[in-house]
Amino acid sequence: MAAPQQTTFDDRDGWIWFDGEMVPWRDARVHVLTHALHYASSVFEGQRAYNGEIFKLNAHSERLRRSSSLLGFELPWSVEEINAACKEVLKVNGFTDAYMRPLAWRGSESMGVAPGLTKPHVAITAWEWGKYYEERKSADGIRLDIAPWRRPAPYTAPTESKASGLYMICTLSKQHAESRGYDDALMFDWRGRVAEATGANVFFVRDGELHTPTPDCFLDGITRRTVMDLARNRGVDVVERAIWPEELETFEQMFLTGTAVEVTPVRSAGPWNFEVGDLTRQLMKDYEDVVHGRIPNA
Ligand code: PMP
Repeated sequence: MAAPQQTTFDDRDGWIWFDGEMVPWRDARVHVLTHALHYASSVFEGQRAYNGEIFKLNAHSERLRRSSSLLGFELPWSVEEINAACKEVLKVNGFTDAYMRPLAWRGSESMGVAPGLTKPHVAITAWEWGKYYEERKSADGIRLDIAPWRRPAPYTAPTESKASGLYMICTLSKQHAESRGYDDALMFDWRGRVAEATGANVFFVRDGELHTPTPDCFLDGITRRTVMDLARNRGVDVVERAIWPEELETFEQMFLTGTAVEVTPVRSAGPWNFEVGDLTRQLMKDYEDVVHGRIPNA
């Protein structure tokens, strides 16, 4: 009989950087009385390595430290130390192309809403992960549902932090979309404006111009900024502004950007349809080229 497929993330071979030490994959554990598990006091990063180089590593490590600061805890490791740890994780696991997940959280040193005596912890993991959506969809475009949840106002949550707690409504929205046969969901914000997808930013094309919502209550993604630079380098006007759903029917193309989804074309979002057009294809290619070091880091 064939060996059972590895299906769970806690049961793999490999190494995980855990509070300054490299530990065997299966030993990277936390207790059930971990503050983060009860009160969502955790933040994380998602980054990808291509050909052995972690794309925009410094920006990711800086964002990890800033995210935890926004949740009221400071990491005892500098950006340089986190960068070095990430590179080490890639190396000891023997990966050149991988997705990486640095995570920071309040531990089990005390229990209660108050942060009390909890200490900051950091773990860095990596695994091989190809396209976020099926290969065919990554090329032909995905179908988005409209999420039943809205991005919260910045005065109701630390929306600039890549905080685990903010993903509660993303998981619910993604689950809802998939249960209805969609690939993912487009989220509006608390005002009703177009915001982002459940794990990626959104862009639209009209008359050769790129339009994207102002990130005032959701992540200003590292991929988002990279793609804006790539577009400007090609002489494309990039307009960052409030976008209302009523306007969606006037756009010709739509795509998502994010570390995991890279640049993924969108075929439809709710009742609105789009084509996978030239500018989207060009930016997909430019992004592939920049992450592989074939064109300068935008
Ligand atoms: N929004 C959300 C909710 C995300 O999870 C991500 C992925 N980190 C993004 C946007 C895009 O961010 P980045 O390009 O930095 O990966």
